[in-house]
Amino acid sequence: GPQPGVPVTIKKNICTHCSVGCTVTAEVQNGVWTGQEPSWNSPINRGTHCAKGAAIRELVHGPRRLKYPLKLVDGEWQRLSWEQAIDEIGDKMLEIREKAGADSMYILGSAKFTNEGAYLLRKFGAFWGTNSVDHQARICHSTTVAGVANTWGYGAQTNSYNDIRNAKTMIIMGGNPAEAHPISMQHVLAGKEVNRANLIVIDPRFTRTAAHATEYVRLRAGTDIPVIWGMLWHIFQNGWEDKEFIRTRVYGMDEVRKEVEKWTPEEVERVSGVPGEQLKRVAYLFSHEKPSTLIWCMGATQHTVGTANVRAYCTLVLATGNIGKPGTGANIFRGHTNVQGATDLGLDVTSLPLYYGLTEGGWKHWSRVWEVEYEWLQSRFDEVPAIAGRKARSRKENMETPGITSTRWFDAVNLPADEIDQTAPLRGMLVMGHGGNTVTRIPEMLKAVEKLELLVVADPHATTFGALKNRRNGTYLLPIATSLECDGSRTASNRSLQWGEKIVEPAFESRNDYDVIYDFAAKLGFADQMFKNIGRENGHVLAEDVLREINRGGFSTGYCGQSPERLKAHMRNQHKFDLVTLRAPKDDPEVGGDYYGLPWPCWGTPEMKHPGSAILYRTDIPVWEGGGTFRARFGVERNGETLLAEDSYNVDSDLTDGYPEMTFGILKKLGWDRDLRPEELATILRVGGDKPDSVSWATDLSGGIQRVCMDHGVMFYGNAKARAVAWNLPDPVPVHREPIYTSRPDLVAQYPTRPDERQFRMPNV
Ligand code: SF4
Repeated sequence: GPQPGVPVTIKKNICTHCSVGCTVTAEVQNGVWTGQEPSWNSPINRGTHCAKGAAIRELVHGPRRLKYPLKLVDGEWQRLSWEQAIDEIGDKMLEIREKAGADSMYILGSAKFTNEGAYLLRKFGAFWGTNSVDHQARICHSTTVAGVANTWGYGAQTNSYNDIRNAKTMIIMGGNPAEAHPISMQHVLAGKEVNRANLIVIDPRFTRTAAHATEYVRLRAGTDIPVIWGMLWHIFQNGWEDKEFIRTRVYGMDEVRKEVEKWTPEEVERVSGVPGEQLKRVAYLFSHEKPSTLIWCMGATQHTVGTANVRAYCTLVLATGNIGKPGTGANIFRGHTNVQGATDLGLDVTSLPLYYGLTEGGWKHWSRVWEVEYEWLQSRFDEVPAIAGRKARSRKENMETPGITSTRWFDAVNLPADEIDQTAPLRGMLVMGHGGNTVTRIPEMLKAVEKLELLVVADPHATTFGALKNRRNGTYLLPIATSLECDGSRTASNRSLQWGEKIVEPAFESRNDYDVIYDFAAKLGFADQMFKNIGRENGHVLAEDVLREINRGGFSTGYCGQSPERLKAHMRNQHKFDLVTLRAPKDDPEVGGDYYGLPWPCWGTPEMKHPGSAILYRTDIPVWEGGGTFRARFGVERNGETLLAEDSYNVDSDLTDGYPEMTFGILKKLGWDRDLRPEELATILRVGGDKPDSVSWATDLSGGIQRVCMDHGVMFYGNAKARAVAWNLPDPVPVHREPIYTSRPDLVAQYPTRPDERQFRMPNV
């Protein structure tokens, strides 16, 4: 704790444990982080932290930090210097490039990065010559981005956490913010208790969030689409839709109306278990007691039909005209602290930073910003020869071809070259901040990692990704600074950016992502080009310069106005922003009229002082003046064909879904049919060893399996039973294999909000 008499310096940074973006106020004495408070001035957390945020100092000072670079030599870890590590790894990367091409290195980044770290890693991939750069969003909200973007335009939350207070009706579907995003819950509860709003929680489980609901709707797991169509059935039958809004701004609602006619109350109850009367009540509230907002999280997205779920949600919002105004829209709670920013800045195999496509135009845009010749960038990519059924690709075609996703990379190691259609066989992997404990539990991944010639894991902690028993050589662990030990910006779920200042110097020998990426670029021979406009001071890359470069290239999404100076001014003046609107008074000389964090789109140059956009899409002005128009969509589009709702409910995979698809594949390989037994789940959970060794493991792997189970009506508690079987826990909990079709209180009582300790006891944690 703080030492009396020693001067205290206050530093502000952002909690890294979820996407709410709470400000941490750190007390530093003699360069040591001695104390911590939640920021009283932050309009987001207002003097509160959840338990995760309150323990954030542990991330930096916890006992499991990697202290210095290590490499595996004949099965033994040996210490080495940073210079030696960069040198050896760089030589090996060049050797792999020479032998098999640039696409033979796979790059995994992280939603824990700052915006600047994410951007630099994507840029590093481009200068190295590959599009195979991905991160965790692939397995969490990629379906949200796809579903929302092609309905409304931007793949992001439309309003802000604080704005939820303005709603009169809130539906939370597939989310449990009371436990996953706890500080957001203060805004939800303010809506309920101060604004007297209806809080409707639709979930197969009676969660802690459901415990606060004014109406709890229990649906059969995996039946989100029928439930939404059922609500729309009531809305259309009774004429409760917003006719004027639909007439003037929405395309495609007639097709939806036709589709919805099939989803009569009886049919919806048969499929989902939700009684018609209850659904009618919920539909009435959502369409009458407005403004209404729909909140979702990964309970909606991590399905084999995640994108179709998201499109159905968007369609309900459009049918009731709940968009573009305070208290409305889609409040999509994302996962890690910077999953929005890492996605925006291009840690994605299908795009360049800020959603520029892998097209000639996209590459030319960034080559202008980076001040390198487009032809030079093109020369970094390889020509791909024709092998067996695969067509040859020129450098240009290769540059415009998506890389391999983080849920498929192991195919590129395990399959023969002629069976890989996206990229070259992988021989090396650079994993920065990705965690990756899953890798040790999935046979294909495990086999693939063992085959890699080079595996570099750069992380603040020693993850199991780097510590595999069958690897003997060619593995490096590099200690990396946490984002609390870095300067830089992060983008919360509500699209607003916050500048975090380095609280303390990186612990032990760890170094920040920017400097490590710089050193690799220098060793590989392209630092001068890559860092042409990005300065260094005392040997460290300037995060501010990285953001300025992002501003220069960020026209597509409105990342142009959030200069480091403006963001720092916001942190200094947090107390001036209104808690509900997130806006500062117009007459304030430093932050006059801005929305807190300059949520994107923030157009123009920083000097033009665009205030940011707290609410996406304008529906208060006519279309001809720039007001929003939207597309109601349903089903899944595949090979140019639109599959209708009932098909999309049954298809086994959506194009953008990653994790469930992969898990589903594994389950099928193990001979699984739809009648999944807990013992079979236990077999899968046992993969890689009998003793699960981390919380991440349980979350990552069981998350994927859980979603597949949910899609097929095996309840969450079946999974708990499977864990119990896998870990030989005594007296495993009873399994409720029958979907629960009702919200009767006597049944609810059987499913406590906090299952007893035995169910969730995890050895070695
Ligand atoms: Fe951190 Fe999220 Fe908790 Fe806020 S709500 S303290 S950002 S984990």
